[in-house]
Amino acid sequence: MQRGKLLIIGFGPGSEKHMTFRAKEAILEADSIIGYSTYVDLIRPLITTQEIVRTGMTEEVSRAQEAVRQAETGKKVAVISSGDSGVYGMAGLVYEVLIEKGWQEKAGVEVEIIPGISAINSCGSLLGAPIMHDACTISLSDHLTPWELIKKRVDAAAQADFAIALYNPRSGKRTRQIVETQKILLKYRSPNTPVGLVKSAYREREQIIITDLAHMLDHEIGMLTTVIIGNNSTFIYDGKMITPRGYQRKYTLNESKQRLKPHERLKKEAEPWALHGGLEEETDRPFSLQGLAEEALQKLNTGTERLESKVQQRNIVYQQEDIFEFAVSPGVANKKLTPLQMVTLAETVGDDAILEYTPDHLIKVSVKTSSPNKISENLESAGFLLLPIGDVVNIKACDFCDGEKADSIPQVVQLQQQIGGVAVPKQMNIGFNGCGMACYSAPINDIGIIYRKKGFDLFLGAKTTGRNAHVGQLVAEGLDGEKLVDLVVRIVEDYKNRGLPNERFHKFFKRVQVVEGFHYKEVPEQVVVDMACGD
Ligand code: SAH
Repeated sequence: MQRGKLLIIGFGPGSEKHMTFRAKEAILEADSIIGYSTYVDLIRPLITTQEIVRTGMTEEVSRAQEAVRQAETGKKVAVISSGDSGVYGMAGLVYEVLIEKGWQEKAGVEVEIIPGISAINSCGSLLGAPIMHDACTISLSDHLTPWELIKKRVDAAAQADFAIALYNPRSGKRTRQIVETQKILLKYRSPNTPVGLVKSAYREREQIIITDLAHMLDHEIGMLTTVIIGNNSTFIYDGKMITPRGYQRKYTLNESKQRLKPHERLKKEAEPWALHGGLEEETDRPFSLQGLAEEALQKLNTGTERLESKVQQRNIVYQQEDIFEFAVSPGVANKKLTPLQMVTLAETVGDDAILEYTPDHLIKVSVKTSSPNKISENLESAGFLLLPIGDVVNIKACDFCDGEKADSIPQVVQLQQQIGGVAVPKQMNIGFNGCGMACYSAPINDIGIIYRKKGFDLFLGAKTTGRNAHVGQLVAEGLDGEKLVDLVVRIVEDYKNRGLPNERFHKFFKRVQVVEGFHYKEVPEQVVVDMACGD
């Protein structure tokens, strides 16, 4: 007699396109196919002469027994599971039946397990990229697993910040499990945590819903749904649920994206959470979990955490903290900070923040936080002007002789409102000075503006750094206020649209030659003078 074979097949989410080549081949080469009726219907296009053994949902054990029995008569028997047969599928059950019969691989029927795309992957792909990081699957079906144990697993996964795929979340009879699960998750995760509900992935009547932990139960959840719970850093972007690949993100006021600079991301400073060889660098003390826990608790009571009392009520064990970077100044023209503002700044950002005074008269702030909005609200109500940093337009005005030469302040305020902080190919400084003295050096900026004799002079394309630094080209004199603002806004827009990534404004001007009707003029070559007095 021919040796029988069991082909344990995971056929993926349901569409033929998402079935592996081997799964199709195995279905085609089988003498008989055993599976739940709905599954047999899903693979119907591949059925030719194979004998079909259909069974209902609850007869998994009898299906496995029947499969083994048929294989023992020398047949090739395909046992089909949706997704992967090793994930809440038939693979384990078939082995259990075989083991009960004393099966040994050498002498017994042949067994081949054919992997398939499990719901965590198929549903994940329809939602965006919610898995990405460490994740787990939990089946909420308590037919074969005690509910107490399932609860423990949900609790542990929630604490450990896993992204979680909930299989078998709800059926006609099992309706409370998902409600209890939501409660446990809310003990550790914010109600805003993104949640994806995918019903019938890659099948007819596919349904994709993105919601959050607080509202997940307002939607239909059933036997054909997989529920994917995001981790602490999962976010929603343009209707997609995304878990970033790395943990810490840096962002400034008008952008919240991770800066993808590979050389920076792998540096030690960029990974403050890493174990770095198992010894703490400064002390050579071995890491102790107790120590870490104490440190975490201490941190909870200091710094920015004071602002997060709400979060503390939740038993959040790991709270995602991103690096929020921005700059503050007392105002566009105002150059004076009050002692109270300094105190507010210190209290708001906490001891661990880094404050850096920049060449552009700004205090650059870098702070770890999970609530950037609270920080900016606090500082704004203390009268600070908050500015984004990075490749944005930065308007640098003088102090208008302490406000005594205030005629052109309205124009600088208008410029700040219209283009301050706008993203451009490379950081762009606009220098604005209220009189011909130009003691804040307006012409040595990408765009320089000087108010003089009731009109504005405009300079373009200074090179502000390096040994061949030079002032900008004077392109217009005596412009009226309205014209000036429109013109500068259009120049910035042109640079934004036509500038190449990382191209500084003076290089852009040289490359395109004409900006808003102004022609680029070559800067005279510098004469190298051999100094008489030595080398
Ligand atoms: N072996 C399967 C899981 C079987 S348990 C796998 O690896 O995917 C049944 C559960 O799987 C369902 O309750 C649902 O939560 C999930 N599931 C399977 N196929 C799915 C699909 N196409 N769309 C959404 N969820 C699916």
